[in-house]
Amino acid sequence: MRKVSIFGATGSIGQNTIDLIARDPTAYHVVAVTGGANIRQLAEDARRLRAQIAVTAYDDRLEDLRAALAGSGIEAAAGSTALVEAAARPADWVMSAIVGAAGLAPGLAALEQGATLALANKETLVCAGSLVLETARRHGARLLPVDSEHSAVFQALVGEDMAAVERIIITASGGAFRDWPVERLAQATVEQASSHPNWNMGQRITIDSASMFNKALEVIETREFFGIAPDRIEVVVHPESIVHALVGFRDGAVMAHLGAPDMRHAIGYALHWPERRELPVPRLDLARLGQLRFRDPDPERYPALRLAREVMARGGLSGAVFNAAKERALDHFIGQRIGFLDMSDAVAAVLDRFEDAGDLIDAPMTLDNVLKTDHLARQWVDDAVLRRAG
Ligand code: NDP
Repeated sequence: MRKVSIFGATGSIGQNTIDLIARDPTAYHVVAVTGGANIRQLAEDARRLRAQIAVTAYDDRLEDLRAALAGSGIEAAAGSTALVEAAARPADWVMSAIVGAAGLAPGLAALEQGATLALANKETLVCAGSLVLETARRHGARLLPVDSEHSAVFQALVGEDMAAVERIIITASGGAFRDWPVERLAQATVEQASSHPNWNMGQRITIDSASMFNKALEVIETREFFGIAPDRIEVVVHPESIVHALVGFRDGAVMAHLGAPDMRHAIGYALHWPERRELPVPRLDLARLGQLRFRDPDPERYPALRLAREVMARGGLSGAVFNAAKERALDHFIGQRIGFLDMSDAVAAVLDRFEDAGDLIDAPMTLDNVLKTDHLARQWVDDAVLRRAG
């Protein structure tokens, strides 16, 4: 039996992962499932999967979790230390699907115990790419991509030599506002930004798709995951979300990965890798689809893409700054304290402030420094928002 753990089990990726695992209960022994505020779902999943332990991220929800698990024999724990301890429990395969930088420390702990880490949490590589890759190397652990674009590139590279790769092209749906006049974006509401034309995902990544902060994170993730130079990574808007990524080779050939927009494909590929097993995802009917369209992203509509390039040029801890500032700006947008376009302005201002703050951004990449940087960047976004309000 394979030992598996699911971090972020109550979320969109977590639930899709459970859907696949629960179809074959005799194949898996579930070690840990984790969640945040959704205690009912967490306890239900822990019972259904007969997990050893369930962990909520929030200390003050421990009693609720204990009550929901009463009589099951399943351990309950809470808080960020408990998440890291659960990730350190031996497992063969760990799904990293917590949202945000909170996924980093448990992901590192899973790699340190030698688990294969299925990485949906793109923030892990954006905030701490070299630290994560070095940790995996040192402990003989493997990272597998779960983001659909990175899974697509990974699949297109099977049997290929990275030296023959000329460029990687990742596609973007364009999000909720791809066809809006740019002048209207400043007035976009949280509700409007939370509806994705093609994918059914958590609210935060859905809003990040509308602003293309999600794609910006993915460009940085591509650089870290595949070790490719930033100028060889391209983004193309593809409204149908059928082609997930393409790899261009030095002989001019381009390998594309196509599939219906269903995350169970990328999750299932990472779960069964290196085998390809049957998956319960819709099959493509290209004739019915009729056409697949592609266009360049409009830089005015999506300033996040330019910021990602700046981050890659700056290097060091600027990925951690970028992600934290983006997360905090998103909190303020969701809380209706700032507008949709203010998010990229806030992130750009915080990146500049770090640049002016001396060598902080070039400090060695340790978990401690990443967390310190993350904390400071969030504080600077808060300062800026408060100043605006005042
Ligand atoms: P969701 O918001 O649906 O789920 C997030 C999960 O993280 C939930 O289990 C949530 O718990 C938990 N969580 C929230 N805050 C914390 C915290 N501070 N500490 C620990 N756990 C926390 O997100 P998604 O499933 O959409 O996304 C998860 C990750 O996967 C993200 O990094 C995203 O970018 C990435 N991803 C998602 C895709 C998708 O299709 N959804 C596609 C590709 C990548 P609770 O809900 O109980 O509060």
